[in-house]
Amino acid sequence: MPENVLLVVFDALRFDRITSSDSAALTPNINEIFEDGEGFTNCFSCSNVTDSCLTTIMTGMYPTRHGITNHGAKISKANLEQVASTVPLAERLQPTHTTLGVNRKRNWHERGYDRYVNPNEWSKGSAMSALSGAVESLPGPLPEMIRTVYDETLSLYLSLQGESVTTDERLMKRELERFYPSAKSTTETAIDLLEGVEGPWYLNTHYWDAHIPYNPTVTPPEFIQERTYEDGDVKLDEAIEPIRGSRWAEELERAVGHADTIGDVKRLYDAGAWYADKEFGRLIDHLKEQGEYEETLIVLTADHGESLTEHGILFEHHGLYDVSTHVPLAIKAPGFSGSESGFVQHFDIVPTVLDLLETDYEPEEFDGQSLAPDEDGSRELERDAVYMESKHKSRKRAIRTADYKYIKRIGERTECRFCGIPHGDDQELYDLTGDPGETNNIIQTHPDVADELEEKMQAYVDGLPDTPRERIDFEPPEDQLRELGYF
Ligand SMILES: [Zn+2]
Repeated sequence: MPENVLLVVFDALRFDRITSSDSAALTPNINEIFEDGEGFTNCFSCSNVTDSCLTTIMTGMYPTRHGITNHGAKISKANLEQVASTVPLAERLQPTHTTLGVNRKRNWHERGYDRYVNPNEWSKGSAMSALSGAVESLPGPLPEMIRTVYDETLSLYLSLQGESVTTDERLMKRELERFYPSAKSTTETAIDLLEGVEGPWYLNTHYWDAHIPYNPTVTPPEFIQERTYEDGDVKLDEAIEPIRGSRWAEELERAVGHADTIGDVKRLYDAGAWYADKEFGRLIDHLKEQGEYEETLIVLTADHGESLTEHGILFEHHGLYDVSTHVPLAIKAPGFSGSESGFVQHFDIVPTVLDLLETDYEPEEFDGQSLAPDEDGSRELERDAVYMESKHKSRKRAIRTADYKYIKRIGERTECRFCGIPHGDDQELYDLTGDPGETNNIIQTHPDVADELEEKMQAYVDGLPDTPRERIDFEPPEDQLRELGYF
C-alpha cells in the first residue's frame, strides 16, 4: 500500500502535448510517470472550466452533483451550499495524512488541508512565508493584525516595483490571487511544505503555466522557439477579427497582444507546458532524493484542455470539443502499468486513491469507479461513453463515444458569453473515426445517431442523484459570493 499521495493538476494541458512527436523533450517528466505507472489515453473532463473540473477531481462527482457547474464570479450561493455538503479528498485523508495544498484557488478548494498555500503569497514575502503557518495558530486578533501589516508591506513592495497599488486591502488580496503563480514557485512552495512533515502526507499541486496569458518566466528552449504549426503564420490580428469588440478579444489583446502570429502564441503555450513539466520534474527529483518516490502514489492530470484556435476558439477552453476535454491522466501505484484505452473521467480519481489506500467508502458516494486493477491484474471498464457539460461561456451538454461526439445547446443563449459569437450549431454531431478534429457537423445526414445519443445523454443526467449526501457544516462566507472570475 502506498504511503503518501501526490495529486498534480496541470492547468489547461492538452492530451496531444504529451503524445506529440517531440513530447519526449516537451514533457519528459510527465511522460516518465506515464511509463513508470499507467497512462490513461481516453480520460475526459466533465466540464471545461477550472472550478468545475477541479471540484470533480476532488469530490469524485459529476458537476451537477457536487454543485459547481460554473466558474468564478458566476458561481451562485446555491452552488456553494451544494458543494459544502460534499467531502473533498483532502478532508477524507486528513485523519491519516498531513494534507498540503499548493494552489491559488481559494474558498471551497481549501477545505480539508492542514496547510494550503498560494505560491504567490509564499514567494512574495519570504519572511512572512516562514511564519505564516505559525501566525495562523496564534490566539485572538493577532493573526488578523499580522495579516494587515503583511498587506501594507506588500503594498509598499508593489509600489517599489512600480506596480499600481490599491489601498483597498481586499482588492489587493484578490489581485494577488488572480496572478498566476509560476511553476518554480509552486514546486518551491511544495518542497517547503513537505519539509519536516512526519508520517504519511497528501500533497496537491497545481501548475498554471499552460493557462493564458502564457507568460513563461524563463526563455523557452530552442526546440520550442523553432516549433512550427500549420496555421502558425496567420497574424494574430487577423485571427481575432471575427470576435473583434468582444470581451474575449479585449482580454486576448491584453494577454497575448504582444505576439505577432498564431505561431508565436502557440509557442508560448508550449513553453508553459514544458516549464510546468520541468518544475514538476524537480518535485519528483526531490521525492527521489528523500527516498519517498517509491512509496508515493502519484496521480497527474489536467483540469481541462485548451483550444489553440481550433473551432475559432482562441487560446481558451470554451466549448466541449476534444481539445478542451481530452486530458492526460497517469497513475503511479502498485499494479498500475502499461496503458489503458478505456473511457475514464476525473470522478474516477477519488475512489481510486481511497481504494489504493484501503480506505472504506460507499461506491454510491461517487459517480466514478476505482481504477485499481483486480488481483489478477484486470480492470473492468464497461463504459461506452463519457459525458460533459458547460455553463460558463455557453450552456451545452455533450456525450462522446468511441465513434461519435454529440453536443447540444441546453441554454437560452446561442453565442459564447466571452466571444460574442456561437461556437458550433445548436446541435452538433461528429464522426470521430473519420473526423477526429470535429470539423464537419453531420447532424443533418445522421439524425438517427443524434437521437440515440441524445436519449443516452439525457438518461445519464436523469440518473444522477439530485443532491449529495446531507452534511451541511460549512457556511460559505459572503466573500465567496463576490469572488472574482478570470477578470
Ligand atoms: Zn468563446
